[in-house]
Amino acid sequence: MIAMIEKENKSTALEAALEGFPGEIRWQEAIAPYTSLKVGGPAEVMVFPASVEEVVFLMQRISEHALPYFLLGNGSNLIVKSRGFKGIVLHLKHLNRIELIGIDDIFVEGGASFPKLAAFAMEHHLSGLEFAVGIPGSVGGAIAMNAGIPGQETGAWLVNISLVDESGDLREINPKTIAFSYRKTTLPKGVIVSAAFRLTPRPSDEVELSLKSLMKKRRESQPLQFANCGSVFKNPAEGFAGEWIEKAGLKGLRIGDAEISEKHGNFIINHGSATAEEVLALIKKMQETVKDRFGFVLELEVKMIGSD
Ligand SMILES: Cc1cc2nc3c(=O)[nH]c(=O)nc-3n(C[C@H](O)[C@H](O)[C@H](O)COP(=O)(O)OP(=O)(O)OC[C@H]3O[C@@H](n4cnc5c(N)ncnc54)[C@H](O)[C@@H]3O)c2cc1C
Repeated sequence: MIAMIEKENKSTALEAALEGFPGEIRWQEAIAPYTSLKVGGPAEVMVFPASVEEVVFLMQRISEHALPYFLLGNGSNLIVKSRGFKGIVLHLKHLNRIELIGIDDIFVEGGASFPKLAAFAMEHHLSGLEFAVGIPGSVGGAIAMNAGIPGQETGAWLVNISLVDESGDLREINPKTIAFSYRKTTLPKGVIVSAAFRLTPRPSDEVELSLKSLMKKRRESQPLQFANCGSVFKNPAEGFAGEWIEKAGLKGLRIGDAEISEKHGNFIINHGSATAEEVLALIKKMQETVKDRFGFVLELEVKMIGSD
């Protein structure tokens, strides 16, 4: 019976595309546990490449079979809709190496944790990525989103990016040829498999003080004890999205188990069993109310995948 259900859940096209893939394959894998908000349905199939060659293999197959795919990082800026994602989700948990490659340079794989990279830099007396300590993404996700805090961004510290593009070609990209702007880059579509950062020497204890002070600020202003997906909206041209949401009187609004945080208006928290529908209903309410009250539309920062 279980074998039959498994078989029914596998699409022949996906099976054909994945034939010969030596890595781990999981059919109908729940995506919610891989995300920080913890809502939404499964991936039709999730695959875990263990090397750049395996990423190349997968991207070539995806291209040949014209299949939908999604590159899942640490799921910290992601809402998965209820019926999940039809297609292949790639997860880079095995590509997590961090290495010092010169006095000031760090090589890091795309699936490595961004906060761990901040800690590694501190241990090696290097400064620049202190802001990464409270950004719970992967390095690939941080580069793709050009993650940052006001005045500091991931793109500024990069000296190389290795990316497997949608044809399955491995490309070495000079970041100077890429425009990095607010939560956006002009990188080609594909999988960031690794990158190199060039940082600035600074005594570890000074770097550590900055890390601690940045984390203290976050704990004071963000609802970190609850599941959340970071900032839901980008900041508009004027002011901060969270402040406009607060002015609109929406803080604390709750639908089911999803709530607009009392602590930070741009955060939606999951009290435990929130659904994607509840989160989406809050997002709609936030956009409509801000539009009605202040005349502009809040633009999503968070990514959404799947179908309702
Ligand atoms: C508590 C909290 C605080 C946060 N604070 C900040 C903050 O201060 N500043 C900020 O900028 N963000 C913040 N975020 C949001 C989030 O952590 C960042 O956007 C992060 O960079 C997303 O990385 P991820 O690996 O989780 O990506 P995911 O959420 O998994 O994916 C986001 C996007 O990146 C793409 N992606 C992921 N990995 C790769 C890869 N290897 N190659 C190509 N594309 C890839 C995905 O396909 C998707 O389009 C916060 C989130 C939380 C939960």
